Amino acid sequence: MSRIVSADRLNCIESNVWVEFIELANKYKPRVNLGQGFPDFPAPEHICRALASTVVNPDRPLINQYTRDCGHPRLTTVLSQLYGQLVGRPIDADSEILITSGAYQSLFNTFMAYVNPGDEVIIIEPYFDCYEPMTRLAGGIPVFVPLRPRRQSPPVDGDEDSRSPLSSSSADWILDPEELESKFSDKTKFIVVNTPNNPLGKVYTREELELIGRLCQKYDCLVVMDEVYEWLIYPGSPQRQHTRMASLPGMWDRTLTIGSAGKTFSVTGWKIGWTYGPRDLIRPLYLIHQSNVSSCATPIQEALAIGFELELKRLDTDQSYWRQLTESLVGKRDKLSAVLSTNRLMPTVPDGGYFMVADCSQLLATEKVDITGESGPTRGWRFARWLSKHRGLQVIPVSAFYSREHNCLAENLIRFCFCKTDRSLETAEQIIRELIG
Ligand code: PMP
Ligand code: GLN
Repeated sequence: MSRIVSADRLNCIESNVWVEFIELANKYKPRVNLGQGFPDFPAPEHICRALASTVVNPDRPLINQYTRDCGHPRLTTVLSQLYGQLVGRPIDADSEILITSGAYQSLFNTFMAYVNPGDEVIIIEPYFDCYEPMTRLAGGIPVFVPLRPRRQSPPVDGDEDSRSPLSSSSADWILDPEELESKFSDKTKFIVVNTPNNPLGKVYTREELELIGRLCQKYDCLVVMDEVYEWLIYPGSPQRQHTRMASLPGMWDRTLTIGSAGKTFSVTGWKIGWTYGPRDLIRPLYLIHQSNVSSCATPIQEALAIGFELELKRLDTDQSYWRQLTESLVGKRDKLSAVLSTNRLMPTVPDGGYFMVADCSQLLATEKVDITGESGPTRGWRFARWLSKHRGLQVIPVSAFYSREHNCLAENLIRFCFCKTDRSLETAEQIIRELIG
């Protein structure tokens, strides 16, 4: 047998949902793609202009060359100011922030820097899918704990429109404290918490984060906070603002927090992310980082720094890009949830993020849709493939965000991305209406 075979560590990895659904999109060219999470409207003009003028500037030839490995100083400086303010403590720009190739690489650095073979990582389901293969690549063992839907919550004041009887709220998905604690042990290295959550849009309450924090203190482990949707919390949701684990008493010293420029400024293709936390926790990440990507794109970091400098001045004002983005997305969310609930696709209305999960069991029961020819581990997966191939609408099966042993919890769930133009959402609406029409 040839010796030219891939490394054994790949035996624990399978091709992921993105590869399958991006291939489907390339092949069937959907009329509208509400699958992978990216906006199809323009990024803020000031950021794009900042990038253009940064790159095309004969007076600054070095701006197109390598920058500092751990992060371009102008960007780490402004991020330290912003997060210092938000977390309520000084953050050192040189040693407490690491700039990466997207939040994805921040996550990868974290798993590689902290997980030893045999260590356990607690992952809350549904989860951003890469947490599982990253744990396994590092030789760790993922330990899953699902959020479970409780009875439907009553509408929140002033928010009746978005809560029809055929919908529920992302706040209805909760952790069972006893079940959660049963997952912790002396093997636990860290727990990953994603708030606002992809795909549910759940925004963790301060009490929920405090519970997780107490368990991390009790079992002496880290918490990795994936906060890429930190700016997207909707008015009317019970959690009116994003609570940062790193700001809770006693938690700074054991928390690594991850952010993404792609989500912050609607530029997912720019692929810049960051991790902040105490110097001693960031240092191991630097060591992994310098051994793989080393420095990230200089002009993109410069343009983002310019964007953040402006947003820092506009923070909490009506001019804030993040406020404007949230305001425009809330209308899209409400429109989509109304369309889904009137067409037998029962949505879970998100309090944050830009995804909406819907249950397709009622629609599939009408027999208007025949998914028997489709492959996939769950009905939601087969329906998502069918929609893409036969109706030109791309969505993502939610079972991709569950472990194999628990994917039955998402048997009938699909995910819609609503950070799209009104035109795209109208096309989706038309396709959805035709499904039962
Ligand atoms: N975490 C979550 C929860 C995500 O949804 C994504 C996708 N944006 C990432 C991390 C990766 O972000 P980035 O595109 O910055 O790599
Ligand atoms: N975060 C985005 C999503 O959930 C993109 C994921 C990806 O491309 N891996 O859709």
